[in-house]
Amino acid sequence: MNAVNPLPSGERLFISGNEAVARGAWSAGCKVMTAYPGTPSTEILEYAAKLPDMYSEWSVNEKVSLEVCIGASLAGSRALCAMKHVGLNVASDALMTQTLIGVGGGLVIAVADDVGLSSSQNEQDSRFWGRFAHVPVLEPADAQEAYEMTRIAFDLSEQFNTPVILRMTTRICHVKGVVTTAQRRPHNSGIGFQKDPARLVMIPTNAKHRIPLMYQREARLQRYSEESDLNFVQDGSDKRVGFVTSGPVFMHLLESRPEAPILKLGMSYPVPIKKIREFAAQVERLVVAEEVEPILEGEIKAAGIQALGKEILPRIGELAPQALRPAIAKLLGEQTVEETATRSLADVPAVKVSPPPPGSSLFPRPPTMCVACPHLGIYYCLSKIRNKAISGDIGCYTLGAGHPWNALDTTICMGASMGVALGMDKGRTEVDKDQKVIAVIGDSTFMHMGMQGLLDITYNKGNVTILLLDNRAVGMTGGQDNPASGRDIHGDDSPRVNLARLVEALGVKPERIHEVNPYELPNLFKALREEVKVDDTSVIITNQPCVLVDFYAAKPPLRVVEEKCTGCKNCLDVGCPAIHVTRRETVVKPNGKEKELAFVRIESSACTGCDLCPATCGPDAIIPVENFIRQ
Ligand code: SF4
Ligand code: SF4
Ligand code: SF4
Repeated sequence: MNAVNPLPSGERLFISGNEAVARGAWSAGCKVMTAYPGTPSTEILEYAAKLPDMYSEWSVNEKVSLEVCIGASLAGSRALCAMKHVGLNVASDALMTQTLIGVGGGLVIAVADDVGLSSSQNEQDSRFWGRFAHVPVLEPADAQEAYEMTRIAFDLSEQFNTPVILRMTTRICHVKGVVTTAQRRPHNSGIGFQKDPARLVMIPTNAKHRIPLMYQREARLQRYSEESDLNFVQDGSDKRVGFVTSGPVFMHLLESRPEAPILKLGMSYPVPIKKIREFAAQVERLVVAEEVEPILEGEIKAAGIQALGKEILPRIGELAPQALRPAIAKLLGEQTVEETATRSLADVPAVKVSPPPPGSSLFPRPPTMCVACPHLGIYYCLSKIRNKAISGDIGCYTLGAGHPWNALDTTICMGASMGVALGMDKGRTEVDKDQKVIAVIGDSTFMHMGMQGLLDITYNKGNVTILLLDNRAVGMTGGQDNPASGRDIHGDDSPRVNLARLVEALGVKPERIHEVNPYELPNLFKALREEVKVDDTSVIITNQPCVLVDFYAAKPPLRVVEEKCTGCKNCLDVGCPAIHVTRRETVVKPNGKEKELAFVRIESSACTGCDLCPATCGPDAIIPVENFIRQ
């Protein structure tokens, strides 16, 4: 089922919401598209890069990404930047002033909230940014709408001289549907960059004149929202309860309560209060069904309209049918045989992890690093260092917080490892005076927001040892390129940043910079042990790529000689998923204490022969597989 009628003609494609946004932007004549990779929005730019006649780039962070699009818009072209929810936090500095100056060509910000935290450090609601920046928010309910609304967003942007937020969620981004597409519509503003300092140079005297214009624009958008077909009523026969909703919850409501009237807000900001008031008068009870924050609910109630919302619906995670059905049935006094998935804040402890339902065929599997990941050796070494505090960052290496390494003490946001480490150093109390402060950050995250933190460390003479993990990819989001990979989004050669020279330029002394192969454990240990003793800023750069990049060269696999394995478990501390325990035994040592042994094997079809685990094996029980031919 499509949330809106598709265009009458055009190609029909089976694509995800992310791909639909890229395709919609392309068909609207978008000329520049930018992004920093991040779940759940990464595929928007990956798809866009394959479309003709459109410039696309991986930007180093979301703020730069938006700034590139602002420039393109001011140059007269249509531009779209895509990002995940925390990305708009990073880009907000640009947004909050850009909203004052307006646009040239249409400017769309596609921001994807990770509702349900599939791969994010928090759950937040980007609809707030619409209110904060006084810009319209469109919320598609499926892939077809993602396509249509992207096109509409460009038109609205130019009609009202405003950036437009296209707010997606993980559900919309990833679920595929049949999307009817139209031809590419050439966009020609007919004008180039227009010099206009009073509008474009935001010094206080100019900004003061722009602020009233922004509020006038918001009032015009409010009237548009009241009249727009984007906000429509899906009629229903059961008037006992009517819903106001936006985004994918519309689809969940159609599935859960098909007979209920629904006011669907495709343009959820500015809120069409008059339309909502009229709708509320037609139903016995009004329920605001929105994911995450009670934003609409608060504004509706503030307008004096009686409504229910988070009193009966969960505030955390998706409002899927499993959550909606029991909550509405309870409200209406109906019986339900379904498992209660309602998770109102009052009922559910915030950090409780639910066990799998009875009969579930899926065994819960925590995320882990890949076989032979170049980060394994780092965390093996870090787990052996005593009296340390380690600030981590955002990337695959965040998994170092888990078993068996337990080697991260903090993870906050992109680039935070640097500043947090400096704060730990400068703020240390007497009990921690000998503690070694270590920061771990990946290459892409370092260039996203970590470089400034390192500059702060060197400028303020911090005693921090930094592990800069250069795996030549944005590993966590699928191996996208970045300035450290030496390739652009199309896979073409691009200048590759020299990280050693970069950190030296940021103030690290040359003798405190080491480049090491993370598979060579003795060298890695030596560098780490020496640098944590030095009262200065040190950077250890690892130089081996993510195993998932196309140029990774696997070697013949290894195996365990069963008769030689003593069950010492040392190799398990590496954390490589190719090493399996085959048997456990408990023995009594001469001193009378019990010791648990674990005998292992290596899954040769997965092992890439990285040579990490043999370095941990005293009895040399790990050897190459003879006569192996890799398929
Ligand atoms: S994707 Fe690459 S960096 Fe990430 S865990 Fe796997 S090998 Fe390591
Ligand atoms: S390190 Fe060697 S001896 Fe110890 S469990 Fe692993 S394979 Fe066996
Ligand atoms: S050599 Fe050891 S650590 Fe490396 S991939 Fe094989 S099993 Fe894993």
